[in-house]
Amino acid sequence: MKISDSFRSHFIREVLIPLVLVLLITFTAATFTVWWATAKTNRDAAGQQQRIIQTSLSQSLAEMIKQNRSLALWQPLGSRLERAPLDILWLNQNVGAWLTEMFGHQLIYILDEHNQPVYRWEWGENVPVARFEHLRPPVTSLLNKLKIPFAIGSRHAETVDFTLIDKRPAALAISAIDNGYGQNGRFRLVSVKYLDSSYLDSLAQRSLLRDLHYADGNPLHKGANYLLTNVAGEPLGYISWRPSTPGSQMFQVIGPVGLVMVLIITLICVLMIRRLWLSSSRLSQSLLQLSASEAQAQHLAFHDVLTGLPNRALVEERLTQALGRLMRSEGQIALLLLDLDRFKLVNDTYGHHAGDELIIDVGHRLSELVRENDTVGRLGGDEFVVILEGITSLHVIEQLCERIIASLARPFTLLGSQTWIGVSIGVATAPQNASDRLELMRKADIALYEAKSQGRGQHRIFDESMDESVKKRQQIAGDLRIALQSKRDLAVYYQPLMDIAGQKVVGLEALIRWNHPVHGLISPGDFIPLAEEMGLIIQLGEWVLREACRVSLAWPDLSMAINVSPLQFRSAGFVERVKAIVKQEKTQPSRIELEITEGVLIEDEKGAQEIMSELRQAGFRIALDDFGTGYSSLNYLRHFSVDKIKIDRSFTQSLGVTENSTAIIESVVRLGQAMGLTVTAEGVETSSQMQALAEAGCNQLQGFLFSHAVAEEEIKALLTPRKAS
Ligand code: C2E
Ligand code: CA
Ligand code: CA
Repeated sequence: MKISDSFRSHFIREVLIPLVLVLLITFTAATFTVWWATAKTNRDAAGQQQRIIQTSLSQSLAEMIKQNRSLALWQPLGSRLERAPLDILWLNQNVGAWLTEMFGHQLIYILDEHNQPVYRWEWGENVPVARFEHLRPPVTSLLNKLKIPFAIGSRHAETVDFTLIDKRPAALAISAIDNGYGQNGRFRLVSVKYLDSSYLDSLAQRSLLRDLHYADGNPLHKGANYLLTNVAGEPLGYISWRPSTPGSQMFQVIGPVGLVMVLIITLICVLMIRRLWLSSSRLSQSLLQLSASEAQAQHLAFHDVLTGLPNRALVEERLTQALGRLMRSEGQIALLLLDLDRFKLVNDTYGHHAGDELIIDVGHRLSELVRENDTVGRLGGDEFVVILEGITSLHVIEQLCERIIASLARPFTLLGSQTWIGVSIGVATAPQNASDRLELMRKADIALYEAKSQGRGQHRIFDESMDESVKKRQQIAGDLRIALQSKRDLAVYYQPLMDIAGQKVVGLEALIRWNHPVHGLISPGDFIPLAEEMGLIIQLGEWVLREACRVSLAWPDLSMAINVSPLQFRSAGFVERVKAIVKQEKTQPSRIELEITEGVLIEDEKGAQEIMSELRQAGFRIALDDFGTGYSSLNYLRHFSVDKIKIDRSFTQSLGVTENSTAIIESVVRLGQAMGLTVTAEGVETSSQMQALAEAGCNQLQGFLFSHAVAEEEIKALLTPRKAS
């Protein structure tokens, strides 16, 4: 799976970094909290231990003085001491041994009122009184400092304190020995307990502090020591112990657990990030694919599948945008509508695949001719469009049109053979012709129609007169539909066909007339093509046929010629319908002459041949109308079985004007006669034309020289013999 760089950096920025930050912050906060809790617990514990040692020390002092007191207030002691000589044995037993054994006092002295020792007990035995000097300073200083009233006869006095004896810390207790009357006597009891290991051990037991030590200099354990002072506050050294640190203990338990938790959480986060990475990259991948297929769909929606060119929707969109830009900029937009000439022929001849290939090729050729930012699009079928922007003169458009026409006039190679097509172009420009898309399209379409109707392979730039004629056409087309429904303004007129002498009417040609309520008489030359375009021609032709049949009944000696549009001729069931109408109107097919043009032969020779022979078998006569205007008339004549040819009026009227016109007519007549056909000349307007035609060997004549087409009622007048003037 390929991950895009943008997705990677996006993921790192939006997911990874925030998550890592959150983790770091959480872990830091947790670590700090644990550290803080540990330190605080340790600090609290240290404070508590200080208070405990302090209390324990003062308790031990209080006990010591109590122990001393128990002796000092014991009356037998006071009275024994007053009696001389001193009973040392008794004192050993009741003072020295007792205090030592019962309470662990180490030095015990009895002093007189001058602080001279009278009894001395050290380390469990009686010793001579001489050496007391090492005790005198602490004792005197204690007595002085405390200023305790040891005066004889006053109430019981005692004191206790820590002190240094021979630089060793010790508890020193002094009590006045009762004189037997509840007053201080002459003697004082002094006892000492060194703060030695046994003292500290018992203190440790009492205080639950471990490893108590005395140090006169620097304390042993930092943060776990107590400054030993005497009552006056003079420092005597430190008592230190192994500190109990519940915070650290707690940390020792919590620490590893926390570390494991951190590891687990980190691991979970890593796994989560991995999964998130995978699933979101998959998501982004499918989003990418989705947007790719969206883009593809978008492309399909806006492009022609065959050529890949913008389709109608995109062309319209581009045109709208260009028109929007036009408001803000100079220059014009030109919209070129292109319609291929003869494309249908190629399609029919070579098949749809070749047709598709041709369309693709046309697309390529067009794209090569325009500038980068111009649009070439395909509207469908053989219709293309070109949008040009920033045009400054019509000349540029005309040049491009010429280039396009020249380019598409070059042969195309289809299925190995060369084919020619052409193109007609209609152009409309904005803002001159329109600033609205639909209007611009409409006008380009009108120009295209003009280009096509004026002989194809051309371009036309829209001008307002085209619009007028188109509007008029549309108007008329609508009117024609109405006229055809009511038949009120439609009429069939009849023009006589004369014998070659111009004296006798031998037939009639039915010609339709439309008297438009507004525009007056409209020539069938104008509205027949319209009726063909609108699909009304069949209905119209059949109506004329019906009328003509009806009229022909009144004139049994005359043939009746009816014009048949190629569209009508090719329409399905044409023969059957013609036969049916003739039958319904109770006339014979032999009286009817159907005039067709070469146009019916062009697209489907075989089919046309079949229809013609069917018609002839049914008894109809067939005339080839407008002979000489088409492609290779003389050749056709060999292939098609017709009964008559009608030489087009342009030939008739060229007699005496164009040099070899007589020769042409003569050869047509000869050919016709050789095939047993009747040859009729149309458009005879002068007697000299009549004469030339007669000399050429024509059989029948038709033209204004004899009569215009006349209404049904006037036919009778035509038949009255008259002299040609
Ligand atoms: P077309 O079949 O060649 O008809 C002859 C046309 O020549 C008629 O024009 C007629 O009035 C005109 N004409 C006759 N003699 C002369 C003359 O001496 N000089 C000149 N300059 N013209 C002459 P129209 O009636 O205007 O018809 C024009 C065309 O319309 C006809 O040409 C025909 O092709 C078509 N058309 C007329 N009626 C019908 C119809 O009922 N059905 C079909 N399908 N086409 C019709
Ligand atoms: Ca005709
Ligand atoms: Ca004609």
